[in-house]
Amino acid sequence: MAEFTMELNDEQKEVRDWLHGFAADVIRPAAAEWDEREETPWPVIQEAAKVGIYSLDFYAQQYFDPTGLGIPMAMEELFWGDAGIALSIVGTGLAAVGVLANGTEEQIGTWIPQMYGDASDVKVAAFCSSEPDAGSDVASLRTRAVYDEAKDEWVINGTKTWATNGGIANVHVVVAVVDPELGSKGHASFIVPAGTPGLAQGQKFKKHGIRASHTAEVVLDNVRVPGSCLLGGKEKLDERLARARERAKAGGERVKNAAMATFEASRPAVGAMAVGTARAAYEVALDYAKTREQFGRPIIDNQGVAFQLADMRTQIDAARLLVWRASWMAVSGKPFTAAEGSMSKLYASETAKKVTGQAIQILGGNGYTREYPVERMHRDAAIYTIFEGTSEIQRLVIARTLSGMPIR
Ligand SMILES: Cc1cc2nc3c(=O)[nH]c(=O)nc-3n(C[C@H](O)[C@H](O)[C@H](O)COP(=O)(O)OP(=O)(O)OC[C@H]3O[C@@H](n4cnc5c(N)ncnc54)[C@H](O)[C@@H]3O)c2cc1C
Repeated sequence: MAEFTMELNDEQKEVRDWLHGFAADVIRPAAAEWDEREETPWPVIQEAAKVGIYSLDFYAQQYFDPTGLGIPMAMEELFWGDAGIALSIVGTGLAAVGVLANGTEEQIGTWIPQMYGDASDVKVAAFCSSEPDAGSDVASLRTRAVYDEAKDEWVINGTKTWATNGGIANVHVVVAVVDPELGSKGHASFIVPAGTPGLAQGQKFKKHGIRASHTAEVVLDNVRVPGSCLLGGKEKLDERLARARERAKAGGERVKNAAMATFEASRPAVGAMAVGTARAAYEVALDYAKTREQFGRPIIDNQGVAFQLADMRTQIDAARLLVWRASWMAVSGKPFTAAEGSMSKLYASETAKKVTGQAIQILGGNGYTREYPVERMHRDAAIYTIFEGTSEIQRLVIARTLSGMPIR
């Protein structure tokens, strides 16, 4: 039985230090520029590809770390550098995981390399699930995929919104309804390659934060993709739909639990991103408080400032521990009996919002300007309580899990 430890092993420390170096030397210096430009930072993604950070191999290595800490550690370091740029680097991973989780070996081998491209010609991918009328309420998707048996093609119609890398991706993974009777169990995922007739980018959003990450609508107007673009294949889909119909008749409880387990396992990664942003702002505030003098002494000499920093650090460390616990539970196959994955995402994202706000306060007027990075970090932090399930949805999941009641 493995000995209990709360320390990273030597190999993990080496990876962490390497990522931290990249975040400090390449990501952080570029952060303000790409935030202002509100564009995908292609040269930084290219640098990440050159050193091996922007690649499926890198994510696979972290994902299969038997302690479960590989992904949270990587996310914390990259997002410590800058949230917008880091999301541009890891955003493709969301789509890649969609293919890894549901695709056949052939689909994985064909599409994942096209999602990343190579260091001389980097590509990105997009995961398109959310729609204008289906955000928190994922079961109400309207994008429809209909099978044209004569041609062995799927015809997809609908509008996706909020897609990270939407419209600029080389590969879009699109979630669509194949059986409207089955709610979220009647959904399937499709590969839609760039250049497919009928696929277009809608509006590109001008955002409050993470502005170096491209977010846009994706319009699918009679898009036709071959049968081979249905992730997992038709036979598996038909079997899955048949099982879902039987389960729905039997009450549907197991269906809900399987979907929830997947989210519980992926949410800590977003918690780790939030920890990275919170830690970055806290460090800036600590340095500033030690050097800024008012009334003839450093401002940290005042308990009012020092206690804020003490609280900030305590909450960041508590957030990381919740993230690590949930990541360890996921990799060890422990049941999430208290929705520990949602707990970690809820606490870390709320902490990031709060701590980055406190950092602005500690920097005073400077904190409010773009001369210092904390105002950007505060804008960036606001996303963590929204995407991958809002804070309210996390609370709903936790409360339902704890009580066993259908709380609304
Ligand atoms: C920058 C950015 C990037 C994104 N990237 C992607 C992506 O790559 N792919 C993708 O598919 N999606 C993506 N999303 C979408 C994101 O996941 C959704 O925005 C999120 O799930 C919330 O949905 P919504 O915006 O429609 O809000 P709504 O669901 O309309 O929620 C509005 C408010 O109502 C509250 N609310 C809703 N239902 C309840 C309830 N039952 N109880 C209590 N409160 C409730 C919410 O908590 C929220 O405060 C992204 C979003 C943003 C902003």
